[in-house]
Amino acid sequence: MMMHSCIKNTRLTFSDDHVLTILCRTKVKKGDKIYHSYARTFTPTNIRRIGLFSGKHFSCECIRCKDPSELQTFLSAFTCSCGGQILAEDPLDLTPDAYWCCNSCDTRIAALEMAGKERGIMMETYAMKRDDPLGMETFLEKYKTVLHKNHAFILEVEKQLSVAYGSFPGFQIETLSDKRLARKICYCSHLLDILDILEPGISTQKGLSLYDLWKGKEEMLRRLGLKKDDSKYKSEKLKNSALLEESLRILEYEPTNSLHGAVKEEINRKLKEM
Ligand SMILES: [Zn+2]
Ligand SMILES: [Zn+2]
Repeated sequence: MMMHSCIKNTRLTFSDDHVLTILCRTKVKKGDKIYHSYARTFTPTNIRRIGLFSGKHFSCECIRCKDPSELQTFLSAFTCSCGGQILAEDPLDLTPDAYWCCNSCDTRIAALEMAGKERGIMMETYAMKRDDPLGMETFLEKYKTVLHKNHAFILEVEKQLSVAYGSFPGFQIETLSDKRLARKICYCSHLLDILDILEPGISTQKGLSLYDLWKGKEEMLRRLGLKKDDSKYKSEKLKNSALLEESLRILEYEPTNSLHGAVKEEINRKLKEM
């Protein structure tokens, strides 16, 4: 079993004929430790650590787990009624004496109560249908004042919606409302900002989100109806191409005979058509 950290420096690829390849996602110097993550990136600390303990039998104390703000991403934070963030005082403390507190008022809540709230919302995300964008939108609306905008549950739903908008039946890119198209772009950009911190280097999810961002921006540009020799059209087109090239640079390591390899081939075709 490879060593674990919730901020990993490796990436795995899988081919259809069951070949697993381990890549370094960031520069690794001689003597550096090699880490894989056995937890999903968009999971709150409590749930990540309990999952690792029950499934892999160790307590993670990595830099992300021991930092209440999770490297200033606030993936586990709830929003306080005062507008501040409610965070675990010590995320490594799973005893009944543990507390969460607001970073801008005196609010203090027992960790057990927070764990119950977190679990309740997690069960709602589990019950959510992946082919129901309207249900996902309702979830985001319901929790936008309860959870931090970067909360893992919010990001996971935004990730699903960033794909659904533009591909699901009834939500194809050409017929998507302007509002939903703008949201697709916004969700992709949001995911990319967080991935830069939690999945530094050549992250597969980053490659996929860049491709979706490109799709959204290309459609937005098409709707502007600019002439092809317009300077704004040319400069936007150039910026969009850079997104697609960056996506390919990341996904080029995916084996051709794999799910993500098919996306890589699709991007290759789009670049050749340009
Ligand atoms: Zn950790
Ligand atoms: Zn407060």
